[in-house]
Amino acid sequence: MLEARVAVKNLQAYCPPLAGRQGLRLDFNESTDGCSPRVLACLRSLDAEALAKYPERASVEAQVAHFLDLDPLQVLLTNGVDEAIHLICSTFLEAGDEALIVVPTFAMYGIFASAEGAKVVEVPAGEDFAFPLSDLLGKITERTRFIAVANPNNPTGAAVRHDLLLQIAQAAPHAALLVDEAYFEFHGETLIDHVGSVPNLFIARTFSKAYGLAGLRCGILAGPVDQICAVRRVASPYNVNAIALAVLPAALGDQQYVDHYATEVRHNRDLLQQELRRLGLQYWPSRANFILVRIGEAHAKFVAALRARGILVRDRTSDPGCAGCVRLTIGSNQHTHTLISAVREVVAELDLPRKVQA
Ligand code: PMP
Repeated sequence: MLEARVAVKNLQAYCPPLAGRQGLRLDFNESTDGCSPRVLACLRSLDAEALAKYPERASVEAQVAHFLDLDPLQVLLTNGVDEAIHLICSTFLEAGDEALIVVPTFAMYGIFASAEGAKVVEVPAGEDFAFPLSDLLGKITERTRFIAVANPNNPTGAAVRHDLLLQIAQAAPHAALLVDEAYFEFHGETLIDHVGSVPNLFIARTFSKAYGLAGLRCGILAGPVDQICAVRRVASPYNVNAIALAVLPAALGDQQYVDHYATEVRHNRDLLQQELRRLGLQYWPSRANFILVRIGEAHAKFVAALRARGILVRDRTSDPGCAGCVRLTIGSNQHTHTLISAVREVVAELDLPRKVQA
């Protein structure tokens, strides 16, 4: 009888709540405004030939590389950052190798590493989700072949100092260090300038968040030429679809649109943080387009009460160190005002215990 590999049978399925997402979607850190109108115009102009042909990635890859000030050989376009993670795991992990992640974090690092038969070593973040540098360095062994750090991290919104990341890269030269900058546009700081000079450093970016194109499935993996060349061998030549490739230049070309949205989100992040403070709810200062809030025992009721008001947010209570926590995506001005009004109502309705402000 046909059986899946043991590593696959042992995988914990990752099942994000994808069904029934009607309403104001503040549960997946998507853009609430959607993409640039220039992207939509480009999409509408596509003809049958554009779809009949196999997609051609190279010229768009070169444009993305130029935008990032990198060599085209240092850049691989992927089917979202998800695929970039998958490809890194397939390229570098043998069964029995170790993958190091700091938890809580984005689930796909652990899933793709486990699927290769690697042992996932989880390093818990410190108090208030402080980055546990010395614990992480202490867990590096000769079998460590993959280390993933989301910067800023999901679901905490915390950022890691660049010198710490470079220290990790140096301490584990035999491991691929993936710095996942999916939320770069809301943070504004990047390690991309170190691509090529640090021999085991990879950076991932996505069009799913600030560009408003999560449905298109397009991400970027950047790394040293020789390592990207190895990763490219594992990727399908058609991994990024023709529609994504056709509209990507328009998306990149409208930086004003992306900057405007990111600026609005940063402003609204301050507003929401202020409001959470006023309401006496514990939250962690975020560098991304979401905020993690501790609601406590009433977390599921809080999520349900917002849903009853047409707003979807994500319960993160099962994530390590996140008991009672809910993650709220920050969107445009109007959407944030809607969220803030609803949160005020729900906090009053549920009579949540408030943290005493220092
Ligand atoms: N990395 C992080 C840290 C994320 O939070 C997410 C999405 N939630 C992704 C990657 C996935 O990005 P993509 O849509 O490009 O696959």
